[in-house]
Amino acid sequence: MKPIIAQVALPVPLHKTFDYRIGHQIPSIGARVRVPFGKQNKIGIVTALSETSSFPFEQLKPIMEVLDDAPLWPASLYKVLVWASRYYQCPLGETLSTVLPVHLRKGKKAKREQEIAWALSCDGKKQLTCLPKAVKQAQLLNLLRNGGMLQSDLIENEVKSPVIKNLQEKGWIEPIKDSPPVDWLSRYAVIEEKPSLNQEQAIAVATINSNSEFACYLIDGVTGSGKTEIYLNALEPVLSKGKQALILVPEIGLTPQTIDRFKRRFQVPIVVLHSALNDTERLNAWLGAKENEAGIIIGTRSALFSPCKSLGIIILDEEHDASYKQQDGFRYHARDLAVMRAHEEKIPVLLGSATPSLESLNNALSGKYHHLLLTVRAGNALKAKQSLLDVRGLYLEAGLSAPLIAEMRKHLSQGNQVMLFLNRRGYAPALMCHECGWLCACKRCDAYFTLHQKENQLRCHHCGTHRAIMPQCESCGSTQIITVGVGTEQLETQLTTLFPEYKTIRIDRDNTRRKGALENYLNAIHNKEYQILIGTQMLAKGHHFPDVTLVALIDVDSALFCNDFRAPERLAQLLVQVAGRAGRAYKPGYVLLQTHHPDNALLQSLISQDYCHFARAALKERKETQLPPFSFFALFRAEGNQSEQVEQFLQQTRTALEATPIETQCALMGPLPAPLHRRAGRFRWQLIFQAPTRQILLQRLSQALLAIRLLPLSNKVRWSLDIEPQDMS
Ligand code: ADP
Ligand code: ZN
Ligand code: ZN
Repeated sequence: MKPIIAQVALPVPLHKTFDYRIGHQIPSIGARVRVPFGKQNKIGIVTALSETSSFPFEQLKPIMEVLDDAPLWPASLYKVLVWASRYYQCPLGETLSTVLPVHLRKGKKAKREQEIAWALSCDGKKQLTCLPKAVKQAQLLNLLRNGGMLQSDLIENEVKSPVIKNLQEKGWIEPIKDSPPVDWLSRYAVIEEKPSLNQEQAIAVATINSNSEFACYLIDGVTGSGKTEIYLNALEPVLSKGKQALILVPEIGLTPQTIDRFKRRFQVPIVVLHSALNDTERLNAWLGAKENEAGIIIGTRSALFSPCKSLGIIILDEEHDASYKQQDGFRYHARDLAVMRAHEEKIPVLLGSATPSLESLNNALSGKYHHLLLTVRAGNALKAKQSLLDVRGLYLEAGLSAPLIAEMRKHLSQGNQVMLFLNRRGYAPALMCHECGWLCACKRCDAYFTLHQKENQLRCHHCGTHRAIMPQCESCGSTQIITVGVGTEQLETQLTTLFPEYKTIRIDRDNTRRKGALENYLNAIHNKEYQILIGTQMLAKGHHFPDVTLVALIDVDSALFCNDFRAPERLAQLLVQVAGRAGRAYKPGYVLLQTHHPDNALLQSLISQDYCHFARAALKERKETQLPPFSFFALFRAEGNQSEQVEQFLQQTRTALEATPIETQCALMGPLPAPLHRRAGRFRWQLIFQAPTRQILLQRLSQALLAIRLLPLSNKVRWSLDIEPQDMS
């Protein structure tokens, strides 16, 4: 029988779909429709067709418009999205809407906006034998050698519009009406000479390329061991068959060098999903993936939802990186979903890291994933030496001890660069009255104001409030106000004074907000315009700075005393990553950690052993204490103006969870005040539910949530649920 009713998922915070009458056109499952909703109309996705509804047919409203002739997603990806919506407890309508480009969310056609494409004219082809002297013009002619290209591709290849215009005026290139051929396979080539692989790399590549079915590989390789080279080799058989590759990285702005390597190696259209893309570019990139116009798609976590027509492999670089977990709304983990998508698509997935997450390491050790180890640095680079610097009793100048300053001087005088890490923005994390000890606290949070001296301002890093610096103590009226602690801004000022003969650069969120700012700084560092580099952990990711020979962590102690069970893992990862920044390219690196706790067991194990030993010991500990990955957490966060009400809501939530027949291994912790109990004037509480398997977690929660969502307080307090949270604050 013909279906007469469509179930539609709408982008509203309700865990259900809505029934609409089908008109003359029967929509596909996974297509967009425009439907009336209250006084407005909304765009939703058809999730099912049926012949009956639990509502009387006459009461149902008709679909206003069917927007797509076919489903928006390949069936495999759609299936992953539906599962993820259920598992992460995000309403299906919101999930599906979130992963669409804005233009599609708003109802625009899923069609590429006509773009200009350029090709060589007859005259232009003649120029190929004797290229013009102008470098940029020659580059452009070369790019068009094998056929037409879209304007956006040209610009992506760093050809500026004036160069295009110039060549058009000369009559060497001409616009073409029809887009260039979609079929990139006919032009596909490996265009760069490849290094010969070392033995470990060769084994890894052979293992990966022996099979094109689903399999998960953990590429567990020390920094500089040639993981990227393995990715490149794994792409070859995929691309040569005309299949696409999806590559996820933690942050696009931080990986220009890696992206360049893909571009240099393969002649194939590459789409880079930059945060700087506008909505039209984003739609075009999405369509490029869907129509298989792009061979390689590179992006951050959300690129995982690119609707690739013919996906052949998924690669997640720096798989341990916390940015793969979305922190609000649809709180998915891109790593876990990548494995799931690869499973659905029946293709390989590579997870690469020098410091694998304990989750992935556990899967590798238990045989669920193939464990590919790379223990030697490619190209003869040396391993960095690491030491603890005991600063107990030493005078600290803006956080710097005399031995560290001396060490810096040594490296700088040899013409090398020095890198300092401090994970605290601003000038000082607090202001204090020297006479009475009063501290300037944010009125809306349980936190102190950070001094930002350049802006001449106090800022709360938790709620964004800012205020002028007060001339007097607000408790006793004294004018003796002093700073407490050190931030990157103060470090910068101090280093400029200590080392006037060298140039210092600071890289943190405060001075890299502007588009392109980070890239410019990184280029300047590579060109050795700066000798002293200061950064927050932003600087620790993914860069190769061949001339950095000394790396110092100014303050590791703050990470030692953190109540998140993942803190040691994070510190170990940070340490290995920063050590990896130093000592490339034949220059030995040295890593120094300033600490007041040189006997700390964690620090000792990190210094004397490597990440692999640390990680195995940490896994053992997690197993004994039944922490993830040996159990699965769900974190309820709630906040409101009245603390008691928030606590009460979580207490009722707890009761609802207890009412479901909880297996013996399940546990509940809380309600407990959140680590930052008051933020922006609201009181925050937490409740943790812990289950032995994902399946039990999902089952119990789904049951209990039916009741929890009906609690009268559930509409009075702001609450959210984070499945497998990465951050417990
Ligand atoms: P990772 O991704 O593990 O940090 P890369 O793939 O970036 O390592 O490799 C580090 C450096 O070593 C790069 O400059 C790369 O070009 C070089 N390299 C990688 N594999 C080889 C090899 N087999 N022979 C020579 N050089 C290599
Ligand atoms: Zn005072
Ligand atoms: Zn605040």
